[in-house]
Amino acid sequence: MKRNFWLLVGSQTLYGDDVLKTVNERAAYMVSYLNACGKLPYELIYKGTAKSNAEITDVIREANFDKECAGIITWCHTFSPSKMWINGLASLQKPYCHLATQYNREIPNEDIDMDFMNLNQAAHGDREHGFIATRLRIPRKVIAGYWQDDRVADRLGEWMRAAVGVAFSKELKVMRFGDNMREVAVTEGDKVEVQTKLGWQVNTWAVGDLVKEMNAVSDDEIDALMAEYAEKYDFNTENTDAIRYQAKEEIAMEKMLQREGCMAFSNTFQDLYGMEQLPGLASQHLMSKGYGYGGEGDWKISALTAIMKAMGERGNGKSSFMEDYTYHLVSGNEYCLGAHMLEVCPSVAADKPRIETHHLGIGMNEKDPARLVFEGKAGKAIVVCLIDMGGRLRMICQDIECVKPIMEMPNLPVARVMWKPAPDLLTGIECWITAGGAHHTVLSYDVSAEMMKDFANMMGIEFVHITKDTTVESLEEKLMVSDLIWKLRG
Ligand code: MN
Repeated sequence: MKRNFWLLVGSQTLYGDDVLKTVNERAAYMVSYLNACGKLPYELIYKGTAKSNAEITDVIREANFDKECAGIITWCHTFSPSKMWINGLASLQKPYCHLATQYNREIPNEDIDMDFMNLNQAAHGDREHGFIATRLRIPRKVIAGYWQDDRVADRLGEWMRAAVGVAFSKELKVMRFGDNMREVAVTEGDKVEVQTKLGWQVNTWAVGDLVKEMNAVSDDEIDALMAEYAEKYDFNTENTDAIRYQAKEEIAMEKMLQREGCMAFSNTFQDLYGMEQLPGLASQHLMSKGYGYGGEGDWKISALTAIMKAMGERGNGKSSFMEDYTYHLVSGNEYCLGAHMLEVCPSVAADKPRIETHHLGIGMNEKDPARLVFEGKAGKAIVVCLIDMGGRLRMICQDIECVKPIMEMPNLPVARVMWKPAPDLLTGIECWITAGGAHHTVLSYDVSAEMMKDFANMMGIEFVHITKDTTVESLEEKLMVSDLIWKLRG
């Protein structure tokens, strides 16, 4: 869907028509400048200068009901008394960013007089405007800086991506094939709570329905998808039947996902009744098209994968379902190795992935599943998980530095990513476990921790960030305080 953002400029009638005309012209120019600067991922639309309670309430009502509007950005060129914002802001249902900027970069030494001061008073206009959002306890982002600076446009762009994640989340449907893996705790969760807070519609379809859909896939459809695989991946197996079987699974799953309007799905190796192979290549290629995926029935991480992909580059960012697998605990050279039994998204691959078939002992596979094998890229990234604390959701985000895997691991038959978590592997593990973090995560190279924090704030869920500065002691304290706060907030 097309998304855009609205800029609302605050003012009042006190200044007279000339000042308001100038404010209006400048705001329109600012919007055209920002749209042309190439930094904003979505269009910014100037919705006028608001001068009264009625005007503000009307435009916010319009924003709430406009499907394409993914958020509002406000700025006060002049002073806008904030009581006229209360009725509007109290009813706002869209993400909200307060841009604290001013039209002129410099104070004009010779030209400054009281006329200039009357026109250019963002410094106190934005403070009056900020007070009322704080007083109303409205979650919002505050970005301060000169509007022509790249950093301001970059930050606005990042906030826009987080807000689009919110819009995407509120419409997200998740298709579960089968239930969660038996006895696993962290992949469970309160679906009613999740739908209330995040909007996700999480429902189950029988694996038998998928098998029926698979049986209806034609050879022509499989041939077409095989040609696409051949273009994107190297074939490193003679077992063409296994690849064709994965193609059949992918086509059938995508048909069901599209029919139901789902952008995320989960399955489990414990429930493949009627299927010869756990979908490997099939799930990987679907992820590369923007679908979320979670293994072992993990619908929470599947949905989060889809959202972070929607927040990333061009609506299908470099984010993947991931699992912490095993550690390299050599002193001074510690790493975490992430992978999954099959399903890592090729959007995070360093080089062209290869299709291979190998035996998969776990689960009900009658035949060896085809899968993509590759190394993940080096670079800064984050891992994010979402856990159900009972009564509330906690999002945990950790900064990581991915490296080219330090060994080849020629007998490891799956895609792999190697990284150092912040602040260091061992403290990072202690922090993650102390916070209750899951083994399943979304690993992303193009969604930042700040974007995830903004997303959590807009959604009203707890956010825990493990950074280079985090210690176990500081985290424990934060979690204890957080527990009290969230018991009160609910
Ligand atoms: Mn897993």
